[in-house]
Amino acid sequence: MGNAALLATEAEHKQIEPVSEPAVIRLDHVHKVYHMGDVDVHALRGISLTVRKGEFIAIMGASGSGKSTMMNLIGCLDRPTRGTYILDGQDVSGLSKDDRADIRNRKIGFVFQGFNLLSRTSAMENVELPMLYAGLTATERHKRSTEALTRVGLAGRESSHPNQLSGGQQQRVAIARALVNQPAIILADEPTGNLDSRTAVEVMEIFQRLNREQGITLVLVTHEHDIAEYAKRVVVFKDGKINQDYPITEQRDAAEELKLLPEITDDDDD
Ligand code: ADP
Ligand code: MG
Repeated sequence: MGNAALLATEAEHKQIEPVSEPAVIRLDHVHKVYHMGDVDVHALRGISLTVRKGEFIAIMGASGSGKSTMMNLIGCLDRPTRGTYILDGQDVSGLSKDDRADIRNRKIGFVFQGFNLLSRTSAMENVELPMLYAGLTATERHKRSTEALTRVGLAGRESSHPNQLSGGQQQRVAIARALVNQPAIILADEPTGNLDSRTAVEVMEIFQRLNREQGITLVLVTHEHDIAEYAKRVVVFKDGKINQDYPITEQRDAAEELKLLPEITDDDDD
């Protein structure tokens, strides 16, 4: 092969190599030991994981394998016993509780299985809550909250209370709440666990749209393979370690599937 040809192939090779996005999460040999009286529970046994900006990861694994422990660490709700955690370029492994709370409010959006909305409070006020802690003005809170509710398809439902909304709508309020502080990552622990199958696809459609259109980084725990296939990468836990880590080659497309799923006719007016 002549030099010119060699250069050409190198150039082509460079082009197809994916440009590396910055790491949002970098866990390096992370261990977590819970001390229960005289007993030590070794919940994480050396986890190393890098998640780059714009990734969409599904975490799977048997009950007790360490998934929630890792989500708690990633979400700065807890800190590792050993090892380091770099969140968005900052080493947060040794931060105090107050400093972690501050980082958490700025960098992380949470979505839970049980929605965790305040029941006596409107959709709008639920979404405004994280901004209240962040000290934004009422006008800014109102504006961002309205925008976030629109992004999840709930324009017009701002004043509804959780008990006036379906499960899927409540989860969408929770997603809007997770979005408002423009976090570096959204963490979702079994977000479709309490939803019927069509509603689960609707929620996955929102996650896929946020990921594709706005490059939001998502880490989602699920027990269901069907749900994991909406992600781009699957990480499987076993006995406190990462047992498998593979890309989803044929990502399911929730928006396409919704077109084919029959509408459920009920008193929802959206
Ligand atoms: P998963 O979410 O995969 O079901 P967890 O991370 O909840 O797994 O649990 C991993 C292990 O750590 C289990 O043995 C569990 O009993 C233990 N564990 C989890 N949280 C605590 C805690 N707060 N105190 C003591 N042990 C815990
Ligand atoms: Mg769990």
